[in-house]
Amino acid sequence: MAVDSPPTATSTRRVVLLGPPSSGKGTQAEILAEHLGVPHISTGDMLREARDAGTELGERVESILSAGELVDDDTMADLVAERLSRRDAQQGFLLDGYPRTLRQVRDLEGLLGSSDVDAVLFIDVPEEALVERGLGRGREDDTEEVIRKRIAVYREQTEPLVEHYGNSGVLETVDGNRPIEDVTAEILESLGLVHKGHE
Ligand code: AMP
Repeated sequence: MAVDSPPTATSTRRVVLLGPPSSGKGTQAEILAEHLGVPHISTGDMLREARDAGTELGERVESILSAGELVDDDTMADLVAERLSRRDAQQGFLLDGYPRTLRQVRDLEGLLGSSDVDAVLFIDVPEEALVERGLGRGREDDTEEVIRKRIAVYREQTEPLVEHYGNSGVLETVDGNRPIEDVTAEILESLGLVHKGHE
């Protein structure tokens, strides 16, 4: 794979990864963050860490996480504002799992101001494949009921973001129903980080 020289200040460094639960978002986010040289910020990981550490936030969100529902937008706005204010996020970031509602889109826009995000990658996976993948993942709170709940919440609250970002011209859609390496290659190509034919 021919990777370009390190990104310059003008290249794509503020990226949002969008996709249904079990779309492979987290896996791709880690790989991509490394390529971009920016922190991988997963709000799901942050909330699970808070839960496991038993912090005040963790206790507050525990039952929401295990039901597959969404934590409220104000709590998420505070969490993300704090994380994006840290020094490592000043040159860019890879947001994985945020924003997830149209309110969160507006909160993020408010936070970033005119700089906003450079690219939104949408990892598209058909619904049938999601339940199967979710069950295969084997996390302790991944019962079929919770997986289906998460998918339903995604359809209702998060899917409208695809159209929103499509209208703002920053959306790249990637077919996520393929092997991990193929999805990664398409993402890197869509961001101009590798040249087609050199993989
Ligand atoms: P994830 O690992 O991204 O699937 O997130 C795991 C869980 O954390 C979700 O099912 C939600 O309960 C919660 N969560 C993560 N990100 C958000 C967000 N942006 N807004 C609301 N809840 C979130």
